Amino acid sequence: MANSVPSVSSTGSTVLGYPRIGPNRELKRAEEAFWAGRSDASALHEVAAGLRRDTWTTLRDAGLDQVPGNTFSFYDHILDTALAVGAVPERFAGISDPLERLFAMARGRTGAPACEMTKWFDTNYHYLVPEIGPDTRLAPGSRKAIEEFREALRSDVVTRPVLVGPVTLLLLSKPAEGAPEGFRPLDLLGPLVEVYRDLLAELADAGAEWVQLDEPAFAADRSEDEIAALRKAYDRLAAAPRRPKILVASYFGELGPALPVLASTAVEGLALDLVAGASDLDGIDGIEGIGGKLVLAGVVDGRNVWRTDLDAALVTASRLVGVAGRVEISTSCSLLHVPYDLSVETSLPGDVADMLAFARQKVDEVVLIGRALHEGRSAVAAEFDAAKTTRERVAAAARRNESVRARLAELGADHYRRGAGDVRAKVQREALGLPDVPTTTIGSFPQTAEIRKDRAAHRAGRIDAGEYTERMRREIARVVALQEEIGLDVLVHGEPERNDMVQYFAENLDGFATTELGWVQSYGSRCVRPPILHSDVSRRDGNPITVEWATYAQSLSEKPVKGMLTGPVTILAWSFVRDDQPLGDTARQVGLALRDEVVDLEAAGIRIIQVDEPALRELLPLHERDRPAYMDWAVDAFRMSTGGVVDGTQIHTHLCYSEFGEVVGAIDGLDADVTTVEAARSRMEVLADLGPGIPRGLGPGVYDVHSPEVPDTDELAGQLTAALRHIGSERLWANPDCGLKTRGEPETVEALTNLVAAARRVRAQT
Ligand code: GLN
Ligand code: ZN
Repeated sequence: MANSVPSVSSTGSTVLGYPRIGPNRELKRAEEAFWAGRSDASALHEVAAGLRRDTWTTLRDAGLDQVPGNTFSFYDHILDTALAVGAVPERFAGISDPLERLFAMARGRTGAPACEMTKWFDTNYHYLVPEIGPDTRLAPGSRKAIEEFREALRSDVVTRPVLVGPVTLLLLSKPAEGAPEGFRPLDLLGPLVEVYRDLLAELADAGAEWVQLDEPAFAADRSEDEIAALRKAYDRLAAAPRRPKILVASYFGELGPALPVLASTAVEGLALDLVAGASDLDGIDGIEGIGGKLVLAGVVDGRNVWRTDLDAALVTASRLVGVAGRVEISTSCSLLHVPYDLSVETSLPGDVADMLAFARQKVDEVVLIGRALHEGRSAVAAEFDAAKTTRERVAAAARRNESVRARLAELGADHYRRGAGDVRAKVQREALGLPDVPTTTIGSFPQTAEIRKDRAAHRAGRIDAGEYTERMRREIARVVALQEEIGLDVLVHGEPERNDMVQYFAENLDGFATTELGWVQSYGSRCVRPPILHSDVSRRDGNPITVEWATYAQSLSEKPVKGMLTGPVTILAWSFVRDDQPLGDTARQVGLALRDEVVDLEAAGIRIIQVDEPALRELLPLHERDRPAYMDWAVDAFRMSTGGVVDGTQIHTHLCYSEFGEVVGAIDGLDADVTTVEAARSRMEVLADLGPGIPRGLGPGVYDVHSPEVPDTDELAGQLTAALRHIGSERLWANPDCGLKTRGEPETVEALTNLVAAARRVRAQT
């Protein structure tokens, strides 16, 4: 049995998953209409069925051998898998309607808060965290995978249903409320695997030949115990008697020590990420069991938007020929993380468009490489050669900006190291004249429907630049007056001109392109349109971006108004970034462009400048061994951006989370004069680490901006008093824990008024 080659169909290509929100975000619209009560469940189901059918037939007609199934989701595929195995937290157990229950788990309802949401590995996708306790009654639950398999059959497509694998599902779960100390969700692996066996048997009965189980958790560092759990799970899942065949897919990195373990089990197929985890190929010929397996060579990048180097991909995949039982071509991971279709973009510069491939184009690439592998390159020579010519042409085109490169080469470390922190603090205290525990906000003020309308009208050319500027200024003046009235110490201009904190800068920097329909699901119905960073970066025509708005706001007040920028790491994290040079080099370029902006703000009289880095922790590599290098370049890029100012100019940074762990060192490395963070929900406990770790100003958010509830003065004063147990009043700032953009105005005014009162009270007591 060991060396028999699993039977497969002809050309040898598939993808691990596909976007599902709809090419025009049809699912988002249908869901939001349903949630708002503007349409009923049957209308929603109809849209969903249409999207599924289109995906299956598109993928089949593109020439893929195998079309992944169960890739549709109303909200999140991890939630779907939890529902498929009956992992429903107690507080939702009473809801009998399946769709209602799904949305309740995703979005919460009165008395039953939503499941927690967190980032899917190092992507910008967010999943709902399953809750598993000793009492979780695991049993086949939702029949979605089976129903969708049958539904696809009716469209004449035999799909390969995809489920999150049992070990990854448990590793991503958290202990349910009330679980005893020491309980780990992984303790339930045994019973969970039996549920998967039942599900697989049902899928086989429905006619599925293959099932794909995703185990990306094994692309991160894993303990021996966890790898042993993987072995145990797949030995059992692959044990007779059973059909269908099992494909275990891992992605976002190499499998490393998990690869020989999976190869030793009786699963029929493995999918490898050969973009992020090409090192799995080294020594793979010595791994026992590989010779009997179908191996999917994930050579087309599922996470980025660049056109594939087809010849290089073919060479990579060819390394498996003669090693694996059979080789097929695939994407490195699901295409969920890239936009649908490049061909609908009409305003991308031609050269930029020629660099790119979105999901639909990547499917074509997969098919072509599959054909080249199985029929020989000559069978697809024309397509390969044309793609190569295009790649070479755009690679040679203007991606380089020599003056940016020359300036970077000149900027040694001493150009971006500032004076000693305590010296700066002293100079700034004199220059700014702020009270102890100064009050401020994180930057954005509530974005009214009117502001959004004005921005859209400007974009569409319905109002001219002069009129637009006028309207934005009016809003800025209003927000400044509001802050004066409230009595805040450090003001902001409110960011009305920004659609999004990254897109706004991308639109004003050379080297970036933005799309019209390049939507990517972030979570549920929420989508983002990441800018595309394709070439060397500098400010467009050398022009300042934010200076006009900031100086206008400053002209209206005697109090300092903070300049407001998005940091280099965050700009990279929320964009599609060129992969032809190390990320750190690109980050330094962005840092340099921001440095120019920071210096211009200072020259224009702005005395406090905030450079937001909410994504600093997000980009942290999955493997510990890669982290020091990451933190080095991240810190370097930030310091590049902020290191050009005098000691008296105060640099702030803002991070949107409260779990710092191993990034405390990096945050300290940023060397900002003031660091604002989320802290309200943890009652200032973060200061236990940050207080000693970051010996400069700290602004732990004293209330949660995600909730519409207005905190009262007592509560806020309590938070500040709690903070003062960790750090002195000369280092403490009082601020909300994030921007106010999504809040309503009345509640914002009330909350900030209470914040100012609380700070005054605490000041009087110290
Ligand atoms: N300055 C931004 C704002 O206030 C920061 C947003 C964020 O941290 N995500 O909206
Ligand atoms: Zn934030």
